[in-house]
Amino acid sequence: MFALRAKAPRDSLLKIFNSLTRKKKVFTPINKQEVSLYCCGPTVYWYAHIGNFRTYIFEDLLRRTLEINGFKVKHVLNITDVGHLTSDADTGEDKIEVGARRENKTVWEIAEHYTQTFFEDAEKLNIQKPTIICKATDHITDMIKLIQRLEKNGYTYTIDDGVYFNTSKLKDYGKLIGMNFKRLNETLKAGTRVEFNPQKVNITDFGLWRFSPKDRKRLMEWNSPWGDGFPGWHIECSAMSIKYLGETFDLHCGGIDHPPIHHTNEIAQSEAATGKKFVNYWLHGAFLTFGSKKKMAKSQGDILTVQNLIERGFDPLAYRYLCLTAHYRSQLEFTWENLQAAQNALYTLREHMRRLSENLERKGKKTLKVKEYVKNFFKAVNDDLNMPKILTLVWKLVRNEMEMNNREKYELLLAFDKILAIDIAREVTTDHLPLKIEELIHKRERARKNQDWKTADELRDEIKKHGYLLEDTSEGIRWRKI
Ligand SMILES: [Zn+2]
Repeated sequence: MFALRAKAPRDSLLKIFNSLTRKKKVFTPINKQEVSLYCCGPTVYWYAHIGNFRTYIFEDLLRRTLEINGFKVKHVLNITDVGHLTSDADTGEDKIEVGARRENKTVWEIAEHYTQTFFEDAEKLNIQKPTIICKATDHITDMIKLIQRLEKNGYTYTIDDGVYFNTSKLKDYGKLIGMNFKRLNETLKAGTRVEFNPQKVNITDFGLWRFSPKDRKRLMEWNSPWGDGFPGWHIECSAMSIKYLGETFDLHCGGIDHPPIHHTNEIAQSEAATGKKFVNYWLHGAFLTFGSKKKMAKSQGDILTVQNLIERGFDPLAYRYLCLTAHYRSQLEFTWENLQAAQNALYTLREHMRRLSENLERKGKKTLKVKEYVKNFFKAVNDDLNMPKILTLVWKLVRNEMEMNNREKYELLLAFDKILAIDIAREVTTDHLPLKIEELIHKRERARKNQDWKTADELRDEIKKHGYLLEDTSEGIRWRKI
């Protein structure tokens, strides 16, 4: 696109907020030719929910921002298909095994199924595919080697349920959240309800390798120099990021729940193994909250998926639009009304694009100040990915109808969509209901009037088989294509 092919202006170099330094600074990559980006991926025992996807959308925005700034991005995402236990502290049951029991499938089938669903949903949200997707189960040897390095450097000890990392041996343990070892341990001791193995030396110590229980065989387990078992959760991210991006790399992302435990422990074990700084920039996305201001947690069962949004008649990109309305470091409240408003805005934008495209030659009273818009665009996007500001810019452009040159305006909006990725130029379709479906709906209406609920339900199912979903609302029947 013409307008954004140019480099970012000198006065608006990309600045990002680094959780490690708690400062917003100009981003300087290790290697200008290729930026290295690692994102913590899904645990594939159940559907990823829209709260999870808020984080992946933010990471996608980061990648797109790096790309329009002229960087090539090597983007690595891991798939946790083993060993992530039911609590964030990596204790409790193995989630994949729980999923397998629930669905009466093998652990491998569960992991495969939910990995596939994850990428299908991501695609619907216009999240670009990572350069490298790596599964934990394919990297057990790399993890064992990393634990051996830690062992050699004197950071590990073995107790009856596994090999642990001794966090007291690292002088700056906890630096990511600005706490020292002592304070972290005291805080955890005061607040924790989790039962830890009393043989652990420090409360912050974490499992690198877990032994299989003696009384039963696990569905997924491997040999190791320490005994049969499976890796702890944190070690996979260190092993795989180092393997694909090197011992020190540029950017590491995740959700705001990651810094206290998962990312703190990733830093600890990586730096203890290599003796080098692990990551230069840490970025964390805030939660999507629901009515009660609570985050949506997969392990608590009650979740909303991308598919749920589609079933309620929403374009998945309306959800992406909703995410753009808040800065990635601010909480975003999800309500159906907010989503509806986002969809209305998105459809209005698309309708505007359609009208522009039909009249590209129309000249405005004066030519659109393309340069000024491009400058403001870069200023906003390079100011720690300020998407709400970009949306303001988009609407300013749309509303200044009389002063625009249509073609420039159209191309500029299309260029902005390189970041927004809401398919701004997609046609708004007004579907017509096929006659056959209309007849079936009428039949069902009659059945409902006669309180023949059985027939009504059967007809609803038949209509669904034809690819249409019905919804009974106070204003009457609503339908949509599935
Ligand atoms: Zn991770």
